[in-house]
Amino acid sequence: MEQREILKAQFTTTIPRIDDTHTTYKIFFTIPSKRSLTVGKLGTFEFPAGDYAYTGSAKKNMKHRLTRHVTKQKRLRWHIDYLLALKDVTVNRIELFSQPECTINASTPGTIPVRRFGASDCKSHCVSHLKLLRKL
Ligand SMILES: [Zn+2]
Repeated sequence: MEQREILKAQFTTTIPRIDDTHTTYKIFFTIPSKRSLTVGKLGTFEFPAGDYAYTGSAKKNMKHRLTRHVTKQKRLRWHIDYLLALKDVTVNRIELFSQPECTINASTPGTIPVRRFGASDCKSHCVSHLKLLRKL
């Protein structure tokens, strides 16, 4: 029960209001200390402590998708799940957009910690949909 209340609180603080035009989301989160992590079949990588941004899309059920992203207990399916499921990784903010995810991703500053992260089915030339905004 208590855990459910925590998730509910997280939900209200991090998920912005969604309208019909929103197909792209950007999740800002923090990895508080560096770590080595295996991201499914992509491989094992060193993630520096820092502030990160991940850009993704949901054509429908945006609310469900975002709720899933801020929920810790889930089957690890997408690359981003491996990071957001970590206990000490916190989602700071979510922004929503009407432009395509690759356009939003291209305009996100930062460096690329892992090539091809979240970009397996990109039609654009994204190197990664995960950007490291700032090292801690
Ligand atoms: Zn892309």
